[in-house]
Amino acid sequence: MRCMVLDAARTPLRLASLPVRTPGPGQVLIRVHACAVCRTDLHVVDADLTEPKLPLVPGHEIVGTIAALGEGVERFGAGDRVGVPWLGWTCGECEFCRSGRENLCAQARFTGYQIDGGYSEYTVADQRFCFAIPGGYSDIDAAPLLCAGLIGYRSLRMAGEARRLGLYGFGAAAHIIAQVAHWQGRQVFAFTSPNDIEAQAFAREVGAVWAGGSDQPAPDMLDAAIIFAPVGPLVPAALRAVERGGTVVCAGIHMSPIPSFPYDILWGERVVRSVANLTRSDGDEFLAIAPQVPVKTHTSHYRLDQANQALDDLRAGRLQGAAVLVP
Ligand SMILES: [Zn+2]
Ligand SMILES: [Zn+2]
Repeated sequence: MRCMVLDAARTPLRLASLPVRTPGPGQVLIRVHACAVCRTDLHVVDADLTEPKLPLVPGHEIVGTIAALGEGVERFGAGDRVGVPWLGWTCGECEFCRSGRENLCAQARFTGYQIDGGYSEYTVADQRFCFAIPGGYSDIDAAPLLCAGLIGYRSLRMAGEARRLGLYGFGAAAHIIAQVAHWQGRQVFAFTSPNDIEAQAFAREVGAVWAGGSDQPAPDMLDAAIIFAPVGPLVPAALRAVERGGTVVCAGIHMSPIPSFPYDILWGERVVRSVANLTRSDGDEFLAIAPQVPVKTHTSHYRLDQANQALDDLRAGRLQGAAVLVP
């Protein structure tokens, strides 16, 4: 199988040819039809996340069909279409796993980080962590739902009942969550990089009532904000924009340092919190909601061997919506 391999941090991925793996007990072999590119992949390649297996096949927003079943697989059959997310394995036994918080399992293993992922023609996944993909979505359109959608949705839940919702950083996750929030009757305020007129127009297209630069004041106090951009100074900026009792959710896995800020912008029971990974119930819930909205994903397609180009375009902010690799 052809795949793109990371040999060492801060080096380009290499096109390689590896033998197709045989699925072990409880695993499925998946023929990959599409794999979206997540900002987390950039954090792995750029060594912001420091513990990848190496060499590594990145990619954790995988859509494909089952090509072979390991022993004991009963959730899926050959030919079924499935999605593979970031959460690839949990221990099932720790206090977090046993209390519905498997996203916090200290032994959790992640697709495209500690488990080879979807920048490949084939991948192997644990059946228990795969999702059925709702009909009505093409493989390419469904791929960004698997992380931008799932973890974005968990972040939206953490924002509570907020009616006026700020989204900081308008990439793959925000363009999906804006649609869900709009459908839920919320008002979405989109904050992009200063002067990114294209991203602001895109935000309005997918349901934002207002879009501007993160250096601009919001036209109204926000009830909550979600920060998707990995930019620490956005935390005090968002705190200043939220009303008393409001929550600022940091949705990314990595963020540059947060500058110190005066206590009075946190005062008034404002909350700053992070969102880590996803649980399988987040996935079930979001994949049931997505077709009702219906969430429409905006994608740019790349061949598998153009993965480095896709990562560069994401790094440089040249994308609207999500990049998707098509093997
Ligand atoms: Zn656990
Ligand atoms: Zn991701």
